Amino acid sequence: MGAMQSCYCDQNLPFEQCCAPFIRGEQNAPSAVALMRSRYSAYCVAAGDYLYNTYHSTRRADLSPGLLAATAREQRWIRLEIQSTQAVAADSAEVEFKAFQLEGDYLLCLHERSTFYREDGQWRYHSGVIYQQDAVPVKIGRNDACPCHSGKKYKRCCAGAKT
Ligand SMILES: [Zn+2]
Ligand SMILES: [Zn+2]
Repeated sequence: MGAMQSCYCDQNLPFEQCCAPFIRGEQNAPSAVALMRSRYSAYCVAAGDYLYNTYHSTRRADLSPGLLAATAREQRWIRLEIQSTQAVAADSAEVEFKAFQLEGDYLLCLHERSTFYREDGQWRYHSGVIYQQDAVPVKIGRNDACPCHSGKKYKRCCAGAKT
C-alpha cells in the first residue's frame, strides 16, 4: 500500500498517522475505542500478531497469530462504524460498532457490543455480544451505491475487486 493509504478504520487519516503505529507496536492505543479501531484495521491487513496480542490473556487459549492472520485473509472488511463507547470502570470499557464485510455480492454486518479491559497497561479485547438481528446477509445490486461509501456504484467499486 502507498504511504498515503487512508486508514481502514474510517477516521479520515492516513493509515500511517492512525492505526499503523499501534499495529507495529510502536505505541499503545490510548483508549478502548482506539484499540478497537486498530484491531479492525489489523483484520484488514491480516496482522495476526497484533490481533493475538490485543486479545485479553484469558481469551487466547484456542488462538494463535497464524490462525488469526489466516482468518483475516479470508475476510474482506469494507467499512467500520463506531456506534458508541462508554467507560464501565477505570480499566474496562464497552464499544458498540458495526463492521461490514463482503462475501461475494453479499454484505454482512457484524453489529457487536465489545468489552475491553486494560491489562498490563494495554487495552485488550475480551469478548462481545452480537446483535443477531443485523447479521442477515444483504445482496448488493450491481448499480447500487457501493456499501463502502465511496460514492461510486458497486459495479465500479468493490464488486469483484481483490484486496
Ligand atoms: Zn485507523
Ligand atoms: Zn466500494
